[in-house]
Amino acid sequence: MEDGQRVTIREVRCIRCGTAYAVTEWPRGCPRCFEEGRPSAVAPALDLSVIDPAALKETWTTAGRGMWRFHHLLPVPVEDAVSLEEGGTPLLRLRTLEDEFGIGALWVKDERRNPTGSFKDRFFSVCLSRARSQGAEVVAIASSGNGGASAAAYATAAGITCVVITTPSIAPAWRAAIAMTGARLVAARTGAERWKLLQTGVESLNWYPLTNYVTPPAGSNWYGIQGYKTIAYEIAMSLDWDVPDWVVVPTSRGDGLFGIWRGFVELAELGLTRSVPRMVAAERFPSLTVALQQGLDYPPTVESEPTQAVSIGNDTATYQSLHTLRASQGVAVVCSDADMRAGVRALGREGVFAELSAAASIAAVKGLVERGLADRSARIVAVVTASGLTDPGAALGDAEPLEPIPPTVDALRAAVLG
Ligand SMILES: [Zn+2]
Repeated sequence: MEDGQRVTIREVRCIRCGTAYAVTEWPRGCPRCFEEGRPSAVAPALDLSVIDPAALKETWTTAGRGMWRFHHLLPVPVEDAVSLEEGGTPLLRLRTLEDEFGIGALWVKDERRNPTGSFKDRFFSVCLSRARSQGAEVVAIASSGNGGASAAAYATAAGITCVVITTPSIAPAWRAAIAMTGARLVAARTGAERWKLLQTGVESLNWYPLTNYVTPPAGSNWYGIQGYKTIAYEIAMSLDWDVPDWVVVPTSRGDGLFGIWRGFVELAELGLTRSVPRMVAAERFPSLTVALQQGLDYPPTVESEPTQAVSIGNDTATYQSLHTLRASQGVAVVCSDADMRAGVRALGREGVFAELSAAASIAAVKGLVERGLADRSARIVAVVTASGLTDPGAALGDAEPLEPIPPTVDALRAAVLG
């Protein structure tokens, strides 16, 4: 396949009302749905007819391991790529947990292996590539976690100033990771005011927005979301062009859930795979669960409580998540902090130390089994979105402090054997 051959994007379309728009960012999502008070994402309409599937398969198989080997289906030319060698993460089989849960096959897509330790690197690699090609001088993001650390790293790689709007409670590892890039950290008084500050920067200071800032949320920059498609491509390739029955994704705004699903849809449209998995949103609060149960056409704001799962701790899901679940015959599973902590421990026993929010995918697998949706015949991929090293306190919870012991055999026996 010629390296220059790639999909062209002639328009973007609202995934809710179908209105077509010019190919640009649309940071509030579809203007028409925004006016209705129902913000909704736009997504590019790809003309896949220009792609030779057999040649594409050959190219992907032989062109190295990073994410930009898939550039033929990405919205930015590879010559413009801002890359830190993201993607190409392993698909690990978890045989102990398969037995424990009583399911046919369970894998984790181990997104901890990305440059800044989370799946967000795929998003920001594409997004900063686009921002730089547009001549952006300042990019901005509202984040108190992985998104901020990833955006800051890719912005400095792109030579663009980055503003990360956070709150004073940001975990120290993320704060340090952001600060070391030279990004500007700005603290808002509340989570909600982060978005107001971002909106002000975008509208008054001409900042390039990397993430959502409308309420209810629409989802983030669609260029970045296209980067998540590569998770689907890699899963299919790891399974020799087969697809699992279920793909479970920890879900906040649903950028990852929607992007991964779109990747699987494209593979099926190209004839490279025979089916599309059912998508599972592992959510902290039941916005999607309520929407599905009550047949709502838009996710509601639901009651929330303090949570340590900061990456998915929002009380209002997006339309793009609901759309993905309906279109893929998927489900939502609510995961409490205790469920996720059990998920961190279960993954830990397999040698995978996940962020609390990232372990929601394993908690949701357990939920699928308990609801009778997965049994010995089920093949499931759980996306572990981020490393536990960034916020270890959340995983430990209220663990007892470590008590030092003297260097004697008796003390060792007592400490180790109990
Ligand atoms: Zn619309």
